[in-house]
Amino acid sequence: MRSSEVIIVGGGPAGSSAARRLKRAGAEVLVLDRERFPRLKLCAGWITPEVVRELEMDLDEYPHRLLTFPRLKVHYGRLSLPVPCVQHSIRRFEWDAWLLERSGAPVEQHNVREIVADGDGYVIDGAYRCRYLIGAGGTRCPVYRHLFRELNPRAHELQIVTLEHEIEYDWRDGDCHLWFCDEGLPGYSWYVPKESGWLNVGIGGFAERIKSAGQDIKTHWAHFAAKLGEGLTRGAHYDPSGYSYFLRGRVDVVRRDNAFITGDAAGLASRDLGEGIGPAIRSGLRAAEAILHGAPYRLDDVTGMSVTSIARSMLTRAARPLAPHGRRRASNGGPAHGLRHGNQ
Ligand SMILES: Cc1cc2nc3c(=O)[nH]c(=O)nc-3n(C[C@H](O)[C@H](O)[C@H](O)COP(=O)(O)OP(=O)(O)OC[C@H]3O[C@@H](n4cnc5c(N)ncnc54)[C@H](O)[C@@H]3O)c2cc1C
Repeated sequence: MRSSEVIIVGGGPAGSSAARRLKRAGAEVLVLDRERFPRLKLCAGWITPEVVRELEMDLDEYPHRLLTFPRLKVHYGRLSLPVPCVQHSIRRFEWDAWLLERSGAPVEQHNVREIVADGDGYVIDGAYRCRYLIGAGGTRCPVYRHLFRELNPRAHELQIVTLEHEIEYDWRDGDCHLWFCDEGLPGYSWYVPKESGWLNVGIGGFAERIKSAGQDIKTHWAHFAAKLGEGLTRGAHYDPSGYSYFLRGRVDVVRRDNAFITGDAAGLASRDLGEGIGPAIRSGLRAAEAILHGAPYRLDDVTGMSVTSIARSMLTRAARPLAPHGRRRASNGGPAHGLRHGNQ
């Protein structure tokens, strides 16, 4: 049986942030993930300046695709509004693998199935033993299932259903577009360009509300894809995949003895825009600090409203206009749009 002081189940942003913090403090830590990285993660890959700060990311040093938006284009019915603020896009396929490797923690590919409390620690699938266990396995995290589900049942009214596709596409419009409540969708749809000719498009909305309106997400997707095909993404072909996760509701118990839940496992995405990367990172860091310093593990202020973060970015942007350098062209020579520049 392999032993480690801390085992983290899941190597996404929550798991890799916790791993990096623990590793830097000299703790013995092992990450288990059922996938081999780089792995596909359905996500628009939109990250905020807060995420960049919390991860201590030097944007100029980041070795993969990164695009900076000097504004968001927000659409509601016939109204279209450019919102000047700084946001970024990355490809989760690349970014998650980079974060996990940067953590310096050993990673084993293992699909966790069974967790048993044993003395003051845990045994996983009869093959791994640890004193501290961090659940960072996303919506279907086995740590949540085994140790927290009964204490924190998920609120179905906060379940989000999504469809999205990330494709190689020579985009012409380098802005990030968001359409709210299009065709009655209780949520929003997005167009998020990535550096060097990649593009993520998708839709997400409240599962129960879509169902109770007698609709389904596929009908909304068909409408969205047709709209894109007439304008922003002429000639593109989509084969979208779906994923479901939970927005922040009541999360009463996030630590049980020496076990913690973080990120999507705890259901922490923001209530307004379903932004889950920031809360995943913050909760991962707090779990690590609770282990290192014996501090209480509290998530009261982990999930903010995304619009507050956008407003903060608008103010920063107004005070300090973007000074771009190193604009990049799409790989196929397409037009340069997004900006690559120093930390914001
Ligand atoms: C379509 C879509 C678009 C989104 N867009 C955005 C966005 O633009 N910006 C944003 O901030 N948020 C977005 N989100 C939310 C964001 O993707 C998540 O909140 C975030 O990835 C949560 O991170 P995490 O580390 O908790 O979990 P994850 O990133 O899901 O990582 C969990 C890891 O656990 C592993 N795992 C799962 N089960 C097991 C097991 N049994 N054994 C071992 N390993 C296991 C998985 O392989 C995975 O690597 C989006 C979500 C969706 C579905």
